[in-house]
Amino acid sequence: MDNNSTHLQQELTYDIIIAGAGCAGLSLLYSVLQSPVLKGSKILVLDKSFEKSNDRTWCFWELNPGPFQSLVCKQWDHISIHKASFSKELATAPYSYKMIQGLDFYNHIIQYAKQFSNVIWEEAVVSSIETDGDFATVQWEGGKAKSNKVFSSILPMDTLYTISQSNISKPFLWQHFKGLLVQFESNVFNPGVARLMDFNVDQKDATGFMYLLPLNESKALVEYTLFSKTILPTQAYDIVLEAYLDKHYPNMPYQILHEELGAIPMTTQAFAKSNVPIFVIGTLGNAVKSSTGYAFHFIQEQVKQIVHQLENGAEPNTEVHYTRHQFYDAVLLYILHHNLMEGSEIFKRIFEKNNAATIFKFLSNTSNLWEDIQIMRSLPTKIFLPAAIKVLARRS
Ligand SMILES: Cc1cc2nc3c(=O)[nH]c(=O)nc-3n(C[C@H](O)[C@H](O)[C@H](O)COP(=O)(O)OP(=O)(O)OC[C@H]3O[C@@H](n4cnc5c(N)ncnc54)[C@H](O)[C@@H]3O)c2cc1C
Repeated sequence: MDNNSTHLQQELTYDIIIAGAGCAGLSLLYSVLQSPVLKGSKILVLDKSFEKSNDRTWCFWELNPGPFQSLVCKQWDHISIHKASFSKELATAPYSYKMIQGLDFYNHIIQYAKQFSNVIWEEAVVSSIETDGDFATVQWEGGKAKSNKVFSSILPMDTLYTISQSNISKPFLWQHFKGLLVQFESNVFNPGVARLMDFNVDQKDATGFMYLLPLNESKALVEYTLFSKTILPTQAYDIVLEAYLDKHYPNMPYQILHEELGAIPMTTQAFAKSNVPIFVIGTLGNAVKSSTGYAFHFIQEQVKQIVHQLENGAEPNTEVHYTRHQFYDAVLLYILHHNLMEGSEIFKRIFEKNNAATIFKFLSNTSNLWEDIQIMRSLPTKIFLPAAIKVLARRS
């Protein structure tokens, strides 16, 4: 990366090394630079490319304006869910459902961090991160550096595929999707309501739904999303997306402004554990909520926790999903993985019988036991209880 870029020949030592400057790495960098205690740290940021593109859109719910409120391009106070003749609109208060464009996020943090001369940028493919005790060495072609605090979010997609196909003991599903940013010539959307899940698509081989986020009356992000063991060829998403738009907005011309493809791992299997002085963050650090694929919020929680611990001279703890809610995630994944109940029916029942605030709290791991019981009462005991026992038995 231009002016701050270095090509290090010898092994330099840094206070903090951030390996991987995506959502987690940049969130951590931003938070460290905002900390009065840590902002003067000598930081090395490594990524295979700092030429960022608008490769993803992040949505999340939030109670109050968060640190990235200025980047929110749209927020909704109502969501809806649909399955056959069932349709329900829910007010999200006190939460809002928010959207941030990936590129806005990357640019915002990179521009902010470039004001700090103590941040060194290295555009390189990291080949190894190893430790022999107090320090870890990060290596790339033509250079290496060491630190006693290395934060890595490097998890190549091919490594993830290998894990998904290997004989791991925990269920593994992909949340995979293709999204189109569509612009219609006429006003067809209600921009006040985010269509969170429309299950009126084929449910034969997977839990599938349309996710439709209107940005205004004529423009929306529409994503065909599935939870399943295998990812589809791109064309397969296109066919369903086109059929859905034709069905709902017949004979209405539209233009595709942008496309987004994604595959997020859904599993309670840990990909890596932090091993002092190497700390794992982001997807590698198991920040993804395994039952939903949401990670943006949990990455922010993870980073907040790490910075707080660093400020207090404590060893960072990167765990963000704790036992009780992780157990619920494991039960749901077990049921979906073994096709014990249709995912569409599970989500329909949860949304039918609860308000959005309770569901968001539950899915944010912040619900209390009473709220957990409310959610569980929406679901059939004869399926969930044996699954819960199976999951418990596998743990012991
Ligand atoms: C298309 C898409 C949409 C998503 N939408 C949402 C959403 O709406 N809400 C939500 O909560 N979550 C969403 N997620 C899930 C999650 O929030 C993201 O995947 C998030 O980007 C994960 O952050 P991360 O830092 O772990 O990984 P990444 O953001 O992928 O960052 C990893 C970084 O490591 C770099 N890297 C990789 N290998 C190397 C190497 N060998 N050397 C150097 N650098 C390397 C990459 O270039 C990248 O910059 C989405 C995911 C995708 C893919």
